[in-house]
Amino acid sequence: MRRSAVAGDVRKVAVVGAGMVGLSTAWFLREQGVEVTVLDRSGVGAGASWGNAGWLTPAIATPLPEPAVLRYGVRAVISANSPVYVPPTLDPNLARFVAGFMRHSTNGRWRTAMQALLPVNAQSLDAFDHLGAHGVSAEVFEADPFIAAYERAGDVQVLLEEFEQIERAGGRVEHELVGGAEARRREPALSETVQAAIIIHGQRYLRPVEYVESLAEAVRAQGTEILSDAQVVGIDDLGRAGVQVRTSGPGSGSYDAVVVATGAWLGDLVRPYGVRHVVQAGRGYSFSVETERLPRGPMYFPAVRVALTPLSDRLRVAGMMEFRKADAALDPRRIRAIVEAARPLLKGADLDRRQDEWVGSRPVTADGLPLIGRTESERVFVAGGHGMWGITLGPVTGRLLAEQITTGRVPAELTPFDPLRRLQWAPSRLRAARRRTGSAAL
Ligand SMILES: Cc1cc2nc3c(=O)[nH]c(=O)nc-3n(C[C@H](O)[C@H](O)[C@H](O)COP(=O)(O)OP(=O)(O)OC[C@H]3O[C@@H](n4cnc5c(N)ncnc54)[C@H](O)[C@@H]3O)c2cc1C
Repeated sequence: MRRSAVAGDVRKVAVVGAGMVGLSTAWFLREQGVEVTVLDRSGVGAGASWGNAGWLTPAIATPLPEPAVLRYGVRAVISANSPVYVPPTLDPNLARFVAGFMRHSTNGRWRTAMQALLPVNAQSLDAFDHLGAHGVSAEVFEADPFIAAYERAGDVQVLLEEFEQIERAGGRVEHELVGGAEARRREPALSETVQAAIIIHGQRYLRPVEYVESLAEAVRAQGTEILSDAQVVGIDDLGRAGVQVRTSGPGSGSYDAVVVATGAWLGDLVRPYGVRHVVQAGRGYSFSVETERLPRGPMYFPAVRVALTPLSDRLRVAGMMEFRKADAALDPRRIRAIVEAARPLLKGADLDRRQDEWVGSRPVTADGLPLIGRTESERVFVAGGHGMWGITLGPVTGRLLAEQITTGRVPAELTPFDPLRRLQWAPSRLRAARRRTGSAAL
């Protein structure tokens, strides 16, 4: 990955995108003394950072392309009720993405990608602690318990095998297996149909809306302006004169560098700077409901891929992975599919009186790894493509990228995420990352 020659001169940076990744990057840049302006085409949390499940679960933050996805088969993924949905389409970008995704859905590639994620996963909660200690007031909760529940006891094998794969790659998932009665004792919001559960230890969660708003507040308190209705339409590298950012609203101007953190909309702005990866929208849905008794922590129904998170007084229910255009309308059939999938496993949740129905786009890459670092221009940087894990990995991404931008040195942990990467990288880079984090697991 190339160093940046302009590092010492980076005093003024535009961050495009006010989601978890952009706001975190803005915060850590400012901590390094950089003057920052955040530009968003809508406003704070307008993308995936709003209606997500809020899990901070680095132990299970794994690459999305995995052999099990292939086992769904073509018939499953084109069914409107399937938790993974790929519409039949002639969109060439989607076709390219699906082909790349399939190529990466092998054991060997999954393991290599997992090993690349482990060093950043290991630092992710610490980055939240740092933000919490320096002005982000929204609470981050211990996930006690974090419970994955099943209607059929035999289904636990799939997740247990995934844990084994994680451990073989060098990670660790502290967990215990319990029967239905014990699962209900620990989490009374589970219904009588639950036959088995896996309890995962040491993870956390947050309330996404509260957290993103509080992060934005902390960014403003540092003196950074966050401009809404500032859609960036072009970026021009002017060499020594800096970089010109063109918007359709406020915020146009010249900066020393720009960070593009536009989630599922990453492609267009950075393709002219050599970033060829397709960032595909993996659309997920969520809504909230009242419950007789809020669950004590997050829950997961892996067999139907539904995620549940207690908000302050309601339960958020989320799911689906729909590979379609980021800006397509909400499809009510997906909401209904989530409702029917969750219903048998939940007790006391009023699934028929829903609020906050929402669709948002995970920024998914074909190799399951984010794109973090500089592009062919030493003034244009990318931070995104975290797929299912941009909340967990947002702050650590911001911290490492701010270090790169201000020092010109690429932190070893970021080398596998080079936005200009071809689909393989040298194992020596991974060894360097392991030395740096001192991770015993690797
Ligand atoms: C249903 C669901 C559940 C999820 N659950 C979890 C979870 O439990 N834990 C976890 O870690 N992750 C989870 N995720 C993934 C996580 O939400 C995303 O990875 C993360 O929010 C991505 O953050 P981001 O800042 O990169 O993008 P976004 O939050 O999408 O922000 C991108 C921003 O860029 C702006 N923008 C776009 N184009 C332009 C432009 N041209 N000019 C200016 N601004 C622009 C948009 O308005 C938007 O505000 C979930 C996602 C979904 C959909």
